[in-house]
Amino acid sequence: MKYKTKLNIYLVEPANDYVEVDIKSIPLGIGYVGVYCKHQFKDDISISVFRTLKPFFNKIENEEPDVVGFGCYAWNYNLTRKVAALIKERFPKCLIVFGGASIEYDHENNRTFLQENPFIDFLIFGDGELAFSGIIQLLMRCRYNNDRINIIKSTPVDGVRTLNGKDIVMGNPSYTAKDLSILPSPYLTGFLDNFLEDVQLMPIIQNTRGCPFKCSFCVSGRQSSKLRNFAFGRVSSEIDYIRCRSKNENLRFADDNFGILSSDIEVAKYLRYSYDTYKYPASLKLVSSRVTNDRTRQIAKILEPLAIMCLPFQTLTPSVLINIRRTPISDNEIIENLKFAKRNCIATGSSLIFCLPGESLKSFKETLDKTVEFRFDSIAFGVLWLLKGSELGTKEMREKYQYKSKFMLSENAITYYNNLFSLEAEEISISSKDISFEDWKTGLQYRALVNMMLYNGYAKELFLHCLTFNIKFTDVIHELFDNPEKYPIINNACIEYREEYLGLMHDTEEDLYKHIKGKIDKMRENKESIELTGQNRITYYFLTRLFFDDPVHKVFDEITDCILSLYKGKQSVLFSELTLHLKDLSIKLIINPKIQFQDEIKFKSKYNLTKWIEEGCINQLGNYLLAKHKIFFLRSRNSDGIKYAIKKNEKNKINCFYFFRYLNSSHHRRVVYENASSSKTEGKRLRHEPITT
Ligand code: SF4
Repeated sequence: MKYKTKLNIYLVEPANDYVEVDIKSIPLGIGYVGVYCKHQFKDDISISVFRTLKPFFNKIENEEPDVVGFGCYAWNYNLTRKVAALIKERFPKCLIVFGGASIEYDHENNRTFLQENPFIDFLIFGDGELAFSGIIQLLMRCRYNNDRINIIKSTPVDGVRTLNGKDIVMGNPSYTAKDLSILPSPYLTGFLDNFLEDVQLMPIIQNTRGCPFKCSFCVSGRQSSKLRNFAFGRVSSEIDYIRCRSKNENLRFADDNFGILSSDIEVAKYLRYSYDTYKYPASLKLVSSRVTNDRTRQIAKILEPLAIMCLPFQTLTPSVLINIRRTPISDNEIIENLKFAKRNCIATGSSLIFCLPGESLKSFKETLDKTVEFRFDSIAFGVLWLLKGSELGTKEMREKYQYKSKFMLSENAITYYNNLFSLEAEEISISSKDISFEDWKTGLQYRALVNMMLYNGYAKELFLHCLTFNIKFTDVIHELFDNPEKYPIINNACIEYREEYLGLMHDTEEDLYKHIKGKIDKMRENKESIELTGQNRITYYFLTRLFFDDPVHKVFDEITDCILSLYKGKQSVLFSELTLHLKDLSIKLIINPKIQFQDEIKFKSKYNLTKWIEEGCINQLGNYLLAKHKIFFLRSRNSDGIKYAIKKNEKNKINCFYFFRYLNSSHHRRVVYENASSSKTEGKRLRHEPITT
């Protein structure tokens, strides 16, 4: 028999793409696994990496696979298993390896998973490079043996779990590179060049690995707690390399806590240098460290035009913080960070999660009011997902907190390719022992309002003005929701949002599957209809309707009417004047991606707006009366990034998906400046040209 000389290895991290590719990023995880493996085995292997299925299926038609490795995450959990089953059926001798965030640490879970999915041969927990190459090493020794899969299965490999009969076979539970410099860069070696050519895919850089925290709703801390980082010189070279080659001008950092290590300052400086010199990246997505200190503040200042300083609370209820294993940030620390941000014109943000263990609607409302009182520029309000691999996703925790859940289609997560139909679901907690389903539905309406008004900051100044007259944010919410006849636009939007949301949820994943499958052919005729079947997209849809499609901004009439009706003090004339003035300001601050972008707008005021904002909007605006009217300048933080997003948004007019999803919230509106923009030297993105610092 004539043997082929090279092992054929395929690595796939498949995105769903029935409507469009749902995960618009370069598959960095399998890129790392692939480039390390190639480095180890050089010409003994041929290795290809795929983000979408069509090219993968085309390839295996012509070149039979010896090994297929899958990157399995919450967003492709079902798809990876379906594709793996097909591959195993067609090529029974092919080794199927699963890695990624959905692979759990617990051996019993591994056993159940492998028994339920017998087409999977090996699981890799945590970092995949060394463990995957360990499997290939064994395969090299027995590749011509017909019983090779069983031979490898009976041999413990570090970082790998497998079933031999009913027994779990494994080496060390995880096998990670302690020194990341042993891992070649998938970018600098050219391994991911094909993906850089694809304008749909956003490049991702990994600067650090690991998260030292163990938040119970998250997967990351359970995967790898030890912090390790790549050398600055390598990360800066990757930024240059990507800048010179990538068709997509946005950039994402994969770090769970950017700023947690002192070396992150150098990386931040380099990003800022690249932005100032080359206008690259147009927009930057990163998750800042949840621990704040001088270093994280310095980083926030360096990255001011590109990123926001985020203090992600999730909750402020002390007992709930204990339940989710998060240490609280003191009020003083929060205030000092926010003061620093205001002084340096840095956008700030926080995030909350509804239905965390031990949280009631009442305690959540207190958290919400307190968070608004800190006066962030942006507050995101999420509902709890019970993620596979997270502590709250375990049977024990579900029972302890009596969680009930429903299932919703993940954003655009459908694959319908020849006879392969697959979709991904999000499991959303809808009640717990502390929150009834009725309370949860009320919370959902709060969510609609917060994400429409506070996340993008569209009515932020009006709500902060209320605080200076002792009107709490939840007072505004109650007035709005208790009087639907007085505020029909906001009520209709929030109720419609709630009903849409509830209508998208199904009791079981199977119900969701049957529902979508039943109407998939109709959807084929109108794929845009799927765009409204995910939870973020419905928020974007209502935002677009309320803030971009109505030229006379009736939503602001209702907000101001509501605020005016709540005021019971003696300064009603002043209160009314300030409210209406801030309404005008709020409207002008909005950047509407559906109309011609105007970077800078003049705004006349008899109040010192910049001083009011710089001092955190903690005093009444009336205290900032000027001797005469003054012109202020309302300007975006990053005009190039916004222009790029508006251009890319052309296809998503129905819900402005691209604009909302790929720009940071601080870039959705303008900022008030004292002076007109100086004649900024416009940087230019240069390609194929080395840069020096
Ligand atoms: S939420 Fe953030 S800090 Fe907490 S475990 Fe996940 S990645 Fe780490």
